[in-house]
Amino acid sequence: MIGRYGTDELYTFLLYLYVILLCADILIHHWLLSILVVLEFTLLFYRVFSKNKKRRRRENEIYLKIREKLLSPFSSWKRQWKDRDTLIYKKCHHCKTTLRIPLPIKRGIKHVTCPKCKRRLTVLCLRKVKVEIFSKDGKRKK
Ligand SMILES: [Zn+2]
Repeated sequence: MIGRYGTDELYTFLLYLYVILLCADILIHHWLLSILVVLEFTLLFYRVFSKNKKRRRRENEIYLKIREKLLSPFSSWKRQWKDRDTLIYKKCHHCKTTLRIPLPIKRGIKHVTCPKCKRRLTVLCLRKVKVEIFSKDGKRKK
């Protein structure tokens, strides 16, 4: 493998695609799928054993840029789901900045200032911080 390109993120994606195509070919038995499986397999090995590292790196960069663009909306959803117990995410109407507002103790209307355009926003908070009250002996009060 000295002087060869090896594996990268695009290789991993193509490998998963190859496995999916192979399974589909086994189930469906269509000539077009069989050709795609052979082409995919050839492409996989061509990229791994290629000596033109500069071109393979460029292909991988293009793949990473496309993946980033396609998956970027989902990454913010993932972050919002993770912070759902502590934060509210609200978009500013004027500058489209996403604000991270801590959950209030009481439900209701809250006024916040956008850090980018300095305008005041009114946010309706329907959720609140979960506060658990414990008695002196450590038991949870109801
Ligand atoms: Zn703003």
